[in-house]
Amino acid sequence: MGDYFKSNPDTQGMFGEYGGSFIPPDLQEEMNRITDAYYSISKSHQFISELRSIRKHFQGRPTPVYFAKTLSDECGGRIYLKREDLNHTGAHKLNHCMGEALLAKYMGKKKLIAETGAGQHGVALATAAAYFGLECEIHMGEVDIAKEHPNVVRMEILGAKVVPVSHGLKTLKEAVDSAFEAYLKDPITSIYCIGSVVGPHPFPMMVRDFQRVVGIEAREQFYEMTGELPDNLVACVGGGSNAMGLFSGFIDDKDVNIYGVEPLGKSFKPGEHAATMTYGTPGMIHGFKCYTLQDEKGEPAPVYSIASGLDYPGVGPEHSMLKDLGRVNYVTADDEECLDAFFQLSKKEGIIPALESAHAVAFAMKLAKEKPRQSILVNLSGRGDKDIDFVVENYGIR
Ligand SMILES: *Cc1c(COP(=O)(O)O)cnc(C)c1O
Repeated sequence: MGDYFKSNPDTQGMFGEYGGSFIPPDLQEEMNRITDAYYSISKSHQFISELRSIRKHFQGRPTPVYFAKTLSDECGGRIYLKREDLNHTGAHKLNHCMGEALLAKYMGKKKLIAETGAGQHGVALATAAAYFGLECEIHMGEVDIAKEHPNVVRMEILGAKVVPVSHGLKTLKEAVDSAFEAYLKDPITSIYCIGSVVGPHPFPMMVRDFQRVVGIEAREQFYEMTGELPDNLVACVGGGSNAMGLFSGFIDDKDVNIYGVEPLGKSFKPGEHAATMTYGTPGMIHGFKCYTLQDEKGEPAPVYSIASGLDYPGVGPEHSMLKDLGRVNYVTADDEECLDAFFQLSKKEGIIPALESAHAVAFAMKLAKEKPRQSILVNLSGRGDKDIDFVVENYGIR
């Protein structure tokens, strides 16, 4: 176990040929400061015990592993769910936001800055900022602000300042640019907090390390429940943080098959999905190398998924490496399969999953039918409350 994490990433932040940091020199200086701080502070006894206490008393960890018996009876295999939907704020994102904010506190920072697309990362970060008494500034495209109104209100209730971004397409990409700009104006008192295992080094490593708690807990819990390790792991992949969290607990367990599920959207046609590793090629995006969906000019291509947390034209560098190594199988689930899983899990188990997580459930149901004797541990990355209005308005109740 130790060896994999010692050498991935390497000292340059590379996961094999992916990752690294390809950004302007002034931003690089800041990334170097964060990297140094991360290595010194996050390994200290004080930091570790404070984070442990936060996880237990504020976040409600460990989250349970649950055997989904009715769904399993229906599909054939044995499907277990790691219940990140029960983590405070209803998803796994708070795991790395609390870690990033704790690091910010130890570094003497006063303000957290980030971008958000659908608003999930913004809400998690605003929660962390409120907990630590830090200022919080979330950059968000005007199109997304109109679409994701409840999350905007949540961030404001939590005390965050939501900065509308009105140039270009007024969505995630412009929000990223705007947030980086604000950060560079004030790098001494503020810190940038990325929302997944993406971006320049050290973020893919740091966010993975803060999410490792999911896999470490799940491995222990599953073993305690069944006396063995799971035959298969399944998690959805947007940027890839919830998946890396679960996978990292089992990376050296060679008998455990691992599946990352990408969103196939409406079809395999360009612009109608966000299956980056299934249909993409290696390239550069937001200052790091990874599999990407790009147009002929090397610009990020338009992507789509029913789950707004999954529609990113890049993916974490570690996933890109694990794909090439063949350690993880990257597969897809489309909108229809996702919706079917959304309703099945709700009706059969009394758990309404996030549309992102429903992609993982959809693939797990398929796998269970193919391998009826095997066990499958799914990372249920979040709960579906945020999605119910959207689903019912657009698709009705099934
Ligand atoms: C944001 C989000 C995701 C996608 O992000 P990853 O970094 O790929 O994990 C998945 N599930 C939920 C519930 C989310 O909010």
